[in-house]
Amino acid sequence: MNKILKHLKTVISGLGFVAVATQLALAEPPAVQKPSSAEEVKAALFGGVPGDKWKEGLLFEGIKPSPWMASASNWFPRTEKVQPNEMRIIFMGSAPFIRPGQMNTAILVELGNGDIFMFDIGEGSPANIIASGYALNEISDVFITHLHVDHFGGLPYLWMFGTWAGGWHNNLTVHGPSGRTPEYGTNTMVDGMKMMTGWHRDAFSVFPVGKGWDIEVNEFDFRDNGGVVYEKNGVKITHWQRSHAKDGASGYRLDWNDLCFVWTGDGRPNMNDIPYVKDCDVFVTEQQPELVEISSGVQGVPPFLARYTIDTHHTPGYAAGYVANLVQPRLFMTTHMPFDPYINEESVAEIREHWKGPFHFGAPDGIVVNVTKEQIWVREGILPDFPNSRAPQFDFSNGQLVVPHPTTSREEIQEPFIRESEIDPKKYYPKGYHPDLLTDWPVKGDLVVPLDQLPESLKNSMGAAWRHRVENQKVLDAQSKN
Ligand SMILES: [Zn+2]
Ligand SMILES: [Zn+2]
Repeated sequence: MNKILKHLKTVISGLGFVAVATQLALAEPPAVQKPSSAEEVKAALFGGVPGDKWKEGLLFEGIKPSPWMASASNWFPRTEKVQPNEMRIIFMGSAPFIRPGQMNTAILVELGNGDIFMFDIGEGSPANIIASGYALNEISDVFITHLHVDHFGGLPYLWMFGTWAGGWHNNLTVHGPSGRTPEYGTNTMVDGMKMMTGWHRDAFSVFPVGKGWDIEVNEFDFRDNGGVVYEKNGVKITHWQRSHAKDGASGYRLDWNDLCFVWTGDGRPNMNDIPYVKDCDVFVTEQQPELVEISSGVQGVPPFLARYTIDTHHTPGYAAGYVANLVQPRLFMTTHMPFDPYINEESVAEIREHWKGPFHFGAPDGIVVNVTKEQIWVREGILPDFPNSRAPQFDFSNGQLVVPHPTTSREEIQEPFIRESEIDPKKYYPKGYHPDLLTDWPVKGDLVVPLDQLPESLKNSMGAAWRHRVENQKVLDAQSKN
């Protein structure tokens, strides 16, 4: 016992010495040494740094990080604001076959003017939108390329829970193509979704709803190649027709502030695409690797089924590169494919048969692309598995928070018997603990809270996106005056 105590004493006094030594080292500033020559510094520090000594890499022309990034190696949600002249693209879903690392196809584009657009919203993608630090009520415009369910399966969730989570003042607009006949158009899909969510919407109407359920549809003629589907606040979005086995598939091009983004959606390589996507900064298309027999062995899908699916619906890797070479984007990206080690190298080899410029996968989920006129940078976003949602975001320019009055109540939509047979809370709350239960909506009309009466923490968290938009807009306005 004594021996052990003695040993412990030695260890503790040893630790004490280390602590004192550390303190001394910290107290002493580093010694000043004679500087190296300017030539030596340049030779040592600038060798191999892109753009300063030699041109390196086959995929990196004009591709480099911006100095204001919190980290050039990874993107962490809520650590960076989109700059006034920047476009940020995040892949929220990247595959037709849903799996934990790859939700169904969905691409979020945020612009320096504060606008946010969703291009497709595949099943599961709302999880990544939340993990990326966006509130669901920040999304009010969704552009659907076509009505395969892997491109819009996340829509009912976005609509229902985006409304619950503060989507009271900006209703959702769904933009999408017509079909050859009305029953195959976007309007009909949304009508079907309204029917499917009938119970849910009535049930959620015991909560504030406001304009939440007033979903709008902007259905355009799928044949109107080059037609403008959206034009507001300096943003122009055009569409064109794609060959995807059935009429009613479209591609989208977004132009803003001299920057361009294209998402073709699904489809066969087609010369009709070229005039609408030529010279775009970031050109994203889909791509299927030519590995049908190998993939058949891995996934157990008969090879003919994969071959037939590609040859009637999709863009083979070789064709993706061929199209990219015609388009000449600053960055070429492919998505909507399995992101697997055995496939990726093959995909790159096939694409580079024709495309020699910058290329990156728009997969797996969480790939982030920052685009300015000067440079583009692609990072893996580190999305948490258990994120908490961002606070709902509100436009506070009217100086108040308005919470609309619910349009129904439990009394109206539930039989009294089942509510009255609920267990008396006195029976389960412990003695001395009984919260004031809130079983009726606490205000008569809309709740209108002047900002100076809103708790500081709520004002800060719920007005963050609005304040960012105002700050950036000032910069953009000053620029346009010069
Ligand atoms: Zn698809
Ligand atoms: Zn499809």
